[in-house]
Amino acid sequence: EVRVALFTSDLRVHDNPVLRAALAGAGPGSAVVPLFVLDSGVRAAGFDAPNRRAFLADCLADLDAALRERGGALVVRRGEVVREVCRVLAETGAREVHVAAGVSGYAVRREERLRAALTSARCALRVHDGVVTALPPGAVVPGGKDHFAVFTPYFRRWRAVGVREPLAAPRRIAGAGVTGVPLPGRAEVRGVSPGIPVGGESTGRRRLTAWLRDGITRYDDRHDDLAGDATSRLSPFLHFGCLSAAEVVHRATRAGGPGAEAFVRQLAWRDFHHQVLAARPRAAGHDYRPRGDRWRHDEREVAAWRAGLTGYPVVDAAMRQLAHEGWMHNRGRLLVASFLTKTLYTDWRVGARHFSDLLVDGDVANNQLNWQWVAGTGTDTRPNRVLNPLSQARRFDPDGDYVRRWVPELGGVPGAAVHQPWRLPAGERAGLGYPEPMVDLSAARGRFARAREAG
Ligand code: FAD
Repeated sequence: EVRVALFTSDLRVHDNPVLRAALAGAGPGSAVVPLFVLDSGVRAAGFDAPNRRAFLADCLADLDAALRERGGALVVRRGEVVREVCRVLAETGAREVHVAAGVSGYAVRREERLRAALTSARCALRVHDGVVTALPPGAVVPGGKDHFAVFTPYFRRWRAVGVREPLAAPRRIAGAGVTGVPLPGRAEVRGVSPGIPVGGESTGRRRLTAWLRDGITRYDDRHDDLAGDATSRLSPFLHFGCLSAAEVVHRATRAGGPGAEAFVRQLAWRDFHHQVLAARPRAAGHDYRPRGDRWRHDEREVAAWRAGLTGYPVVDAAMRQLAHEGWMHNRGRLLVASFLTKTLYTDWRVGARHFSDLLVDGDVANNQLNWQWVAGTGTDTRPNRVLNPLSQARRFDPDGDYVRRWVPELGGVPGAAVHQPWRLPAGERAGLGYPEPMVDLSAARGRFARAREAG
């Protein structure tokens, strides 16, 4: 008997319900094909960014090594995912395919197409919940509705229900002797940001252990400190499923204390956005909370925002961190997104696209729905709040260290003066080679208020 474990956003052997179910109850002589398809559909959907492709190459190499230690090997195929699965079924005579339940519109369509193809091939499709998120979408819902639109009541229920126990990694996997294409190499990927992390379950698990030991206790006090870099940086590992969200919640809860509680709350935000997207797939591209007014679009302004040349140092620092690391601090994401959508009054989709082109952790649920949240078209219960980049800078980078780290032109400006280079004496300012502020904040705030009143 042969079964296929189709890996998608769950590139791990620990706490992987898909792999465990494919192996469960298998008698002597049975085998499992651990399959990953480099899906041409993902590329066609424009979601195949170099930073994520490079990280994915690490993840697949690491997963293959973990499977080999257990007697199996990862089978990688290239092409349209449903066709490739059917090919493997034809080659092996497998009668069962196991896969994680997806959340994005793309994953749901993939599942539907797989189901149709497998039904005609008389094979069973087994879809497993709670693999990608800690709690599956729909596990908690408010009375009479299909999803929570407000985070706080969602979190209360999410915490009360609790997540499932993590599963151990399997000890042995008997492979089916199927071959695939060579593993993709990170070196083959062009256009990768220089500072992206190394991917894979092993790195993710090491990072998680170190975080629970050294970082988490200070998380509640320090997570907003831009220069302190005091967050876990686990998001890319969660995005690719190198780490299981359920296991991270369990282990963090066991660590205990206010830092752990604050951290677990952030993991619940991840589940929250996934359950919104699962219920409203259109929110990936359309306003969650429709508004009537029109966005502005000035290509020169957008280009300056993308390049980190707005003249507002904290915005520019964050945008340059994104370009360099394929990651940005959450506080940075909030303030650059507010700057684009509320100060420049540009469509959130323009920003979400740029983020998605660069973020190693970029995913539809977290990216699109956080953008909507900031833009005031999403689930924020205070949709008209505007973050002032200057007060944000003073609060979250009080000594200016974050700005000096990422904006070398301002490297010689001491202390908090770095946040207002326009206040420096004219001679000094001219020598910096740093732009003047591209927009007047109070005028922009007035424009925003008028647009919202009209909307
Ligand atoms: P930590 O602070 O250590 O948090 C732990 C984990 O909780 C994170 O790894 C992440 O999985 C989850 N988390 C934290 N904050 C959020 C949040 N607001 N929403 C959802 N999950 C959260 N996160 C992504 O994973 N992918 C994205 O594409 C993404 N795009 C974003 C776009 C915007 C405009 C904003 C404001 C936020 C976005 N986030 C996204 C959420 C958040 O910024 C990142 O998850 C976080 O910065 C990752 O760093 P970390 O792992 O050190 O987080």
